[in-house]
Amino acid sequence: MNLMSTHKRVPLIAGNWKMNGDTAMAQTLTGAVDEGISSLSAEVVLIPPHPYLRVVKEAIDDRQSRLGLGAQDLSVHEKGAHTGEVSGAMLMDLGCRYVLVGHSERRADHHETNEVVAAKFVAAQRAGLTPIVCLGETLAEREAGQTDAVVLGQLDAVIAAAGIESFAQAVIAYEPVWAIGTGQTATPEQAQSVHASIRARIRDNSDTIGGQVRVIYGGSVKPDNAPEILSCEDIDGGLIGGASLEASSFLGICQAAL
Ligand code: PEP
Repeated sequence: MNLMSTHKRVPLIAGNWKMNGDTAMAQTLTGAVDEGISSLSAEVVLIPPHPYLRVVKEAIDDRQSRLGLGAQDLSVHEKGAHTGEVSGAMLMDLGCRYVLVGHSERRADHHETNEVVAAKFVAAQRAGLTPIVCLGETLAEREAGQTDAVVLGQLDAVIAAAGIESFAQAVIAYEPVWAIGTGQTATPEQAQSVHASIRARIRDNSDTIGGQVRVIYGGSVKPDNAPEILSCEDIDGGLIGGASLEASSFLGICQAAL
């Protein structure tokens, strides 16, 4: 199978710092990433923990950087008595462009169902943010031959809640749960196959949006495996966890995004 890319979608590389870092790290890492992306064509986005969004945004603005800013989660609620929650409007106010919804760590640790994830997707767009909706199967589901059914079921819940037109302003991240933080990445063939299924599902609803929507891959992407993965036809970039915490490894991946 020829997996090589011929598409024209602008690649997106997003660094999900998860619950890591402090003020000094956020400033230093933002500066180092900014220095390394000047000659690259990919869109690059940093996704720090909520307390460091402002620090990263200030570093971006001070440097007049083209780096984008994203958040790791948002509330389904718009405002009010929801202690500890962060609204989409607050993230917009802080200068975010993107927000993750449905990361597998939130689905697992916080029992977020497909319906909750879909509601967060809607809340993000209502606030003016571009959601990056994460889909992915567990190892048991893959071994049971349920990969496409699980991933497309997660996608269908969002299509049902938000409508297909909403994917004109959204990004999809395919992240097999068994590949996240494990060092065990999907092969390019495995990843491309699921990405093609995701795109086909969108195309079934809207051929135009299916051709335009960016579907990025996440799960133990490193500089050495990034070139093969990112050159697949239906893979439009990466959602990077561990390797986004060091400028050299993150930039190595950004350089592989053609
Ligand atoms: C992630 O958390 O979205 C992720 C892909 O993590 P890692 O790159 O560490 O597997």
